[in-house]
Amino acid sequence: AKAVGGSSFRRYDPGMGSGSLDPLLLGQELRLALARGELLLHYQPKVCARTGRLHGVEALVRWQHPERGLVSPGLFVPVAERFGLIGALGHWVLEEACRQAVAWREAGIACRVAVNVSPQQFRNPAMLSEVAEVIARSGMDPADLVCEITETALVESIGSTQRLLDALRAMGIGLSIDDFGTGYSSLAHLRAIPVQQLKIDKSFVDDIATSTDARALVEGIIQLAHALRLEVVAEGVETEAQWRTLQRAGCDVVQGYHIGRPMPADELRRWMAQRRV
Ligand code: C2E
Ligand code: CA
Ligand code: CA
Ligand code: CA
Repeated sequence: AKAVGGSSFRRYDPGMGSGSLDPLLLGQELRLALARGELLLHYQPKVCARTGRLHGVEALVRWQHPERGLVSPGLFVPVAERFGLIGALGHWVLEEACRQAVAWREAGIACRVAVNVSPQQFRNPAMLSEVAEVIARSGMDPADLVCEITETALVESIGSTQRLLDALRAMGIGLSIDDFGTGYSSLAHLRAIPVQQLKIDKSFVDDIATSTDARALVEGIIQLAHALRLEVVAEGVETEAQWRTLQRAGCDVVQGYHIGRPMPADELRRWMAQRRV
């Protein structure tokens, strides 16, 4: 994996720990990491499919481990979920993302910030008041915040989370269904939950420029989403051809390495300046 250009971060190795790391040890280290402030956020741009203008960013958590280097969330988020640390991690992510959103606003940059929310956070009865508190303390406009929830998480806990989602929405927070197409949500779910955005999973985007079946599937998802007045984001866009195909299919927003990798906030500023978005 490529290290993020120009930054002081060490090599990012998403393959790390495939069986080689003891989850219990990692859990203990993660507990310390939260206390020591070893977590950081990278931000990946989402741009308008038609104009290429900045539409928002997604905050993605990283762990700057003193010995292991930059650790992937694919590795430590499941550990956090397993060892009861996801509440603390999610709270930190939310606080940091809100702080950054306010800083961008003050610098004249209008952009919505999306955070990934784990299903376990939704099962916490204090979640709503915590979110309200963080937002109030940061001075952030709730309309600048988006929560990304995976389709699988939504389907698994639709009964218990409906009221929470309604309450977040009532606060003005945006809701987005992540990894759409990989879970099994029904049209009834899509109608019942107060989401505004749907993110088509990367696995569908991968073949879109080369396979007519993949393209038909994505076109179908986009039409369905638009019929329900949802905004459609395609994630994992890695080529110009994929972007163009998505644009033709009516996709609203694109996100992926071809547009911009996840990067630290200061690097994102430079990315914005270069692209004049
Ligand atoms: P996700 O929410 O589906 O995020 C998209 C992942 O795909 C990110 O990996 C992103 O860096 C990567 N990606 C973006 N564009 C491309 C592309 O064009 N090609 C390829 N191959 N990959 C691309 P990352 O940052 O390693 O995050 C992995 C997962 O970890 C996320 O998947 C999300 O489920 C979870 N995660 C990340 N940050 C948080 C967080 O703050 N809280 C929680 N609960 N989960 C998080
Ligand atoms: Ca996401
Ligand atoms: Ca996703
Ligand atoms: Ca994904």
